[in-house]
Amino acid sequence: MTNFLNNHLGGQWQPATRAVHTLTDPVTGDTLATTGGAAEGLAEGFAFARDQGARALQSLGYAQRAAMLSEALKVMQAKRDDYYAMSLANSGTTKADSGIDIDGGLFTLGYYAKLGASLGDAKALTDGAPAVMSKDQLFQSQHLMAPVKGLALFINAFNFPSWGLWEKAAPALLSGVPVVVKPATATAWLTHQMVKDVIDAGILPPGALSIVCGSSAGLLDALSPFDVLSFTGSADTAATIRSHRAVTRDSVRVNIEADSLNSTILAEDALPGSAAFDLFVDNLARDITIKSGQRCTAPRRALVPKGLLPAVGEAVAAKLAAIRVGNPRNPDVGMGSLVSRAQFDSVREGLAALKTEASVMFDGAAQPLLDADDRSACIGPTLLAVRDADAATKVHDLEVFGPVSTLVGYRDTEHAIAIANRGLGSLVASVYSADNGLLACCARGLAATHGRVHLVSPEVGKTHTGHGNVMPASIHGGPGRAGGGEELGGLRALAFYHRRSAIQGPAAALDSMKEGTTAFSY
Ligand code: NAP
Repeated sequence: MTNFLNNHLGGQWQPATRAVHTLTDPVTGDTLATTGGAAEGLAEGFAFARDQGARALQSLGYAQRAAMLSEALKVMQAKRDDYYAMSLANSGTTKADSGIDIDGGLFTLGYYAKLGASLGDAKALTDGAPAVMSKDQLFQSQHLMAPVKGLALFINAFNFPSWGLWEKAAPALLSGVPVVVKPATATAWLTHQMVKDVIDAGILPPGALSIVCGSSAGLLDALSPFDVLSFTGSADTAATIRSHRAVTRDSVRVNIEADSLNSTILAEDALPGSAAFDLFVDNLARDITIKSGQRCTAPRRALVPKGLLPAVGEAVAAKLAAIRVGNPRNPDVGMGSLVSRAQFDSVREGLAALKTEASVMFDGAAQPLLDADDRSACIGPTLLAVRDADAATKVHDLEVFGPVSTLVGYRDTEHAIAIANRGLGSLVASVYSADNGLLACCARGLAATHGRVHLVSPEVGKTHTGHGNVMPASIHGGPGRAGGGEELGGLRALAFYHRRSAIQGPAAALDSMKEGTTAFSY
C-alpha cells in the first residue's frame, strides 16, 4: 500500500485524505508515497504551536532544550538505515550522496545540542555590556534577546529533505521556538519520516514540531506578526513569498536562501603539475557530481587563467569520464539521478541555453547509463567553457540545477574577482593557490558579495571541508541574488529566533533582569 504523508498539526496526526500529489522513484518511476492537497486546520494548528508548543519549550532553559535535541538525534541515529533506503529510492542518490543529506543533518543537530548545553539553564540572552546613559550612572541600557513570541515556518527545497530540516530546526528548537516544516513535495517522504520518528518518541512537547506535506496553499496566510519564516528554494518562489501580506504588512521576519551562481577560482600561481592545480581539478569534478549537482553551493562557474582553459578542461574531463552514472543501487555507480523528470527537463533546457554561448569540453549526457534507461532522471555531467567572460551573459545568470559547470577564462586576479561578482551575490566562492597572500587578497575582494569564501592551499588540501559543504560553525547564505539570508554560523543562528530589545532603566533593575540569562557571544 502506498504511504500517505499526513500532516501533523495541533499536536495530532491528521487522518489521510484524498491523494493529490505523488512522490516517485526518479530511476524506476515507481510510486513511493502520496500527499493530500491544501492543509486543513492551519490557523488552529499554528495557534496551538504558538501557544502550547512555545510555552512548554520556553519554560525550559537552553541546556534542557539542547538535551532534547540530543535525544532526538539518538532516535534518528537508530533509524539511519531506513533513511538511507528512502533517500536512495526517492532522491535517486548514491550512499555517499545520501549521507551528505542524512548524516549532514544529524551532525548539525548534534552540533547545536552541544552548543546549547554550553548556555546552561538560562532562558534568555543578553547582548553586549550595559551602556551608561546618565551622569550618576544609575540609568542604563542593556540589550536583551528573548525567544520570539511566534512559531518558525520552514518552507524547504527538494534537495536536502534531512539537512534542510535540521539545520533550521536545531537552532529554532534550541531557542525555544516551535517549528512547522513544509518540505518540498518531491522528496517529502524522508522529512516526514524523521519528524514522525521524533514525535512518536515523545521527546518534544506537543506543538513543538509540526509538518505540512503537499500543498503550500494557506501557509503564509496563517502567519502572525511575531512568527518567523525561513524559505529555501528558487528565486521565483522567494519573490512570491516576499510580496505576501504577512511579510509586507505584518513584518514577519523572513530569511531567504535562493539560487546562486557560485564560483571556484584557480589562482594565477596554480600551474598544471602544481599541488594547487590538482586540488582544484579534483574538487571541481567532485563538486559537479556530488548529489548530481543539486546543491545550492555547487560551483556553476569555474574561473581559470585564460591560457589554462585547455589544460583544466582536459584534466576535469578525464575525472568526469571515470564516473559511472545511473541507478544508485548498482555499486559501480558513482553518480545517481536527478530528483525527478521535471528537473531532468529543466537541466536539459538550461544546458541548451548555456550552449548558445559556451563550448562543450565534456558531454557526459552522451555516455551510456548503468542500470537505468531513458525514462529515468539520470543525466551525465557536462563541462562547458567560455573564453570571453565579459561578453557572456547566461553563464553569470542562469543556474542549471544539475551536474553542470562552465570554465570561464580570466585575465588577472582582479578580473577573476569581477567575474565572480557578476553572480550578483553568491553563497560561496572558493580559491585554490599555494600563495597565502594571494588567497587573502581574493578573500578581501570576494567577502562583500559572498556568504562564504573557501580558501584552499596544498597545506589544507587533505583537511579542508569542501567548497560545497555547509558546516554549522560557518554561516550559510549569501547577499543579493542568493537571497540575502544568513543561517547557521554557530550561536549566530539563534539571533533569527530571538527578538532583541533595548531595556532601559535603573542599573539595579537591569542586574535583576540578568538573572536567568547568559551572555550572547560567539
Ligand atoms: P521551489 O520550487 O522554489 O520550491 C521550494 C519550496 O517552496 C517547496 O517546498 C515548494 O513546495 C514551496 N513553494 C512553491 N510555491 C510556493 C508558494 N507559492 N508559496 C509557498 N511555498 C511555495 O524550489 P525547489 O525547486 O524545491 O528547489 C530548487 C532551488 O532551491 C534551486 O534554485 C536551488 O538553488 C535552491 N536552493 C537553495 C539553497 C540555499 O541554501 N540557498 C539550498 C537548496 C536549494 P512544493 O514542492 O510543494 O511545490
